[in-house]
Parts: sequence; C-alpha cells; structure tokens
Amino acid sequence: MDLLKERILKDGTVKPGNVLKVDSFLNHQMDIQLINEIGKEFKRLFSDCPVTKILTIEASGIGIACIAAQYFNVPVVFAKKTHTINLDGETYSARVQSFTHQTVYDVILSKKYLGPEDHVLLIDDFLANGCALQGLIEIVNEAGATLEGAGIVIEKGFQSGGKIIRDMGVRLESLAIIDSMSDSSLTFRN
Ligand code: 5GP
Repeated sequence: MDLLKERILKDGTVKPGNVLKVDSFLNHQMDIQLINEIGKEFKRLFSDCPVTKILTIEASGIGIACIAAQYFNVPVVFAKKTHTINLDGETYSARVQSFTHQTVYDVILSKKYLGPEDHVLLIDDFLANGCALQGLIEIVNEAGATLEGAGIVIEKGFQSGGKIIRDMGVRLESLAIIDSMSDSSLTFRN
C-alpha cells in the first residue's frame, strides 16, 4: 500500500532493538484518514471471506480494527492483557511473549464473544516474531471458530513471524513489509 509506505518513510523512526516507531500516525497519535484507507484495503483484500468478527489485541490494534470493522460491518472483539488468568472457565486464554517490552503476559477473551459459529479476521498493527498473532490464533482455535486470515499493517519481514504464520497455513496479508531497516535506511519488499 503506497500511501502507507510513503508515510513510514516520511515519519517512521528506527529505534534500537529493531523497533520502528510510528507514533505520529499509528501508535500514539492516529491519522484517521490514513487508517481509513488501511481499513478499506483490508476489506478489499479479504472481500471473499465471510468474516463475522474482527479479533485484535489491546491496545494498539483496537483503533485500526474498529475502522476496518466499519467496512466489514461486523463487531470487533479484543483480547485483554492480564497478569492473572481467571480460572473460572469463562474465558479463553493464551500466553504471549511481548516483542516491545520483552516480557510474557497472558491474554484473555470472554467466551461470550467468540464461538464455533464465528469466522474471524485477525488485525494488528505490527508483525515481528509472531507471538501476538499466535496467541490470537490459539484463542480462535480454543473457541472452535474458523480463522479466515490475518491483516497486518506493518510486517517486519526480516523477523520470523511472517514465515511462522504463513507456514501454519494462515492467509496473511501485510500492507507494508519491511525487508531491512537502520537509522539511515529502510527498504520494503515489493
Ligand atoms: P510479535 O508478537 O509479532 O513479536 O510482535 C507484535 C506486537 O509487538 C505488535 O502487537 C506490536 O504492538 C509490537 N511490535 C512489534 N514490533 C514492533 C515495532 O517495530 N514497532 C512497534 N511500534 N511495535 C512493535
């Protein structure tokens, strides 16, 4: 998606530890016109899928998922990060290793909001090592729902997540795939 790639080149900054900061338009301040185009693009890419629910993970996936959901006309449900898994059997849960914070946390989702009748599209801002997406996939499987695919805004193609998720047979569409990045240069996959 050219508009997104141009914006990353203009306003993205590379931080130590292979972290791309896009706080001025995606992760802190949000450019709604751009995110609206992102939502439309996800709809175009997954237009053949009978999506009934968009699933994301808090916090930065939520805004993007909500705008995309307007094009799919479906609800958004987001997995909540928690330090204590509720063992009352009312939630699905998965353990996720955080790329940006270098910690492990659990995510939970109420069983009320996802079930075997659902066809799920996963949406998130970044794909790095794939842990967040794998956690969401675990939840979809636990719910017995059908996974239609995953839409990612920025995939860091030099990290392992994209290969892991594609090798699982998941249809993965990333709007911008970064092949390499450093302080002075950033290149995209065509
Ligand atoms: P993964 O689980 O694929 O290793 O990492 C994905 C999650 O980590 C995303 O939900 C995102 O919040 C965060 N993340 C990973 N890499 C980056 C990055 O380069 N920049 C930012 N801003 N977030 C990232």
